[in-house]
Amino acid sequence: TLANNIATSIIRIKNKKALQESEEKFKLLANNIPGGVYLVKFDKKRTKVFLNNEFEKLTGYSKEDFFSERVRLHQLYHPDDKAKALQEIDKAIKEKKSFLVTSRLIKKDGTEIWIEEHGEAIIVNDVVEYLEGVLIDITERKKAEEAILARELAETSNKAKSEFLANMSHEIRTPLNGIIGFSKLLLNTRITEVQKQYLQTVNQSAESLLDVVNDILDLSKIEAGKLSLENSKTSLHTIINQSVDMVKFTAHQKNIELIVNVQEHIECNIWTDEVRLRQILQNLLSNAVKFTLKGQIELNITASKVRESKSKIRFEVKDTGIGIKPENKGKILEAFSQEDSSTTRNFGGTGLGLSITNSLLKLMYSQLEINSEVKKGSSFSFEIELKTEPCGNKNILNNKLKRALVVEDNPLVCEVIERMFRSLNLPCKTISTKTDLPSIITNEEEYDLILIDYEFLNKKVTHEIIDVVSQNQHRHLIIMQNSTSDFISNKSFKNIHNVIKPLKINVLQNYLNKINNPFLDNEIVDLTLVNNDKNKIKILIVED
Ligand code: ADP
Repeated sequence: TLANNIATSIIRIKNKKALQESEEKFKLLANNIPGGVYLVKFDKKRTKVFLNNEFEKLTGYSKEDFFSERVRLHQLYHPDDKAKALQEIDKAIKEKKSFLVTSRLIKKDGTEIWIEEHGEAIIVNDVVEYLEGVLIDITERKKAEEAILARELAETSNKAKSEFLANMSHEIRTPLNGIIGFSKLLLNTRITEVQKQYLQTVNQSAESLLDVVNDILDLSKIEAGKLSLENSKTSLHTIINQSVDMVKFTAHQKNIELIVNVQEHIECNIWTDEVRLRQILQNLLSNAVKFTLKGQIELNITASKVRESKSKIRFEVKDTGIGIKPENKGKILEAFSQEDSSTTRNFGGTGLGLSITNSLLKLMYSQLEINSEVKKGSSFSFEIELKTEPCGNKNILNNKLKRALVVEDNPLVCEVIERMFRSLNLPCKTISTKTDLPSIITNEEEYDLILIDYEFLNKKVTHEIIDVVSQNQHRHLIIMQNSTSDFISNKSFKNIHNVIKPLKINVLQNYLNKINNPFLDNEIVDLTLVNNDKNKIKILIVED
């Protein structure tokens, strides 16, 4: 009996030790789980058997609070989630299955966290004896999920909005084009002066409405990700000239000097989306004209070679306008955003131009750079990398001219024109005087090409110069005038020419080619075309 008792005791002590060891291992494991672990009896009070350390961190209550029944886990469930969570747990216990519930938990300090509770009933002899579970804090995951959902929702509704806008703009554009086209036609019919004025207002209003609609269409296309860029060969000079021509009338009306300053020997055959590049330049130039009250606007274009047939071209539109406050520089790039409320009052506009410009530049892997000083002026610039190649030769065909004289008051215009002549290999001198000019020109006969700024000189002096130059058929006079100028050219002299400012290098080259080659009465755009037999060209127009 004694031996038996001793043996039983030894076994009991061994079992107890094993049990203790196993419990230690369980506790160590449970305390290293990154979640709250619980083991409770399946009785009415859910008597606590074990809670790990993380349980305290998760709930904010001490283990003691739970063991002493001061607080119970089900009291911590968010009231909106409690019923559902308990119901799910009960159901799983009844079915002797594991459970997984997601709910909000209110911590001791009142903060709300999202938890995922993984649990299971422990069954002994077919009876549920214990409940065990792990609570994992999924607040961060939940936030991320919610953010993704919110973003997806926003993106979908934004896309739907953009598509709606794109469709609507298209629907509005069609009848608008009708109004513009037919009011233009009507303007050419025999109507009274008053009717003409009414009709002009109709036409201009429709044009400006079309501009707004086009901007909205572009913006919504960009936002819906439906705008893709073309990439075809075009002439940098053509894009520049067309962009400048669009704004020169308004600039000249405001007596603002427009200057096109293109770096010489730039590779001017470029591969780009010419419509969009022109749109960008027009936006920047028309803003510059709009926000400049006096002074000048420069379009500066420089390039640096990246590698064979690739150049980085920098475009800059610089004005002497009202400027932008430093704190508003970011704001004006947003859609429907202007510098402040006085802008609309004083200048009108929708605040769409720059946003579209910057979005288009983004598609070209570039962005707008703004430098501005209030009341001094602004500079908007961007750089794009394009495939480029040199364009045509920069010489004057059969040049007989020896020396040019430029009469111009704006120093930057003088500098730009001087460089143009240098690149065309024609010596040139610039002067900014108008006193005794006719006699200077009479005496200094070595200048066989004279360029004068009509707005600087005025009508009287210009006519005196015309009188001098028209006497000598070997001398040529180019009168640079504004588009609003009151000067009417007299076509009777073959050696007197007019050009609308700003002077551009390829326009000057064309003039000089024409002066030297009077038999070529068409613009020399491309030398290959000059040698073409015109009769060989057949044109087919298909138009619905
Ligand atoms: P809009 O010209 O229709 O107002 P934009 O998007 O083209 O719209 O320009 C947004 C705003 O940026 C303008 O309203 C103006 O406040 C400011 N801004 C743009 N260009 C200039 C500039 N050259 N000089 C001063 N402010 C400018």
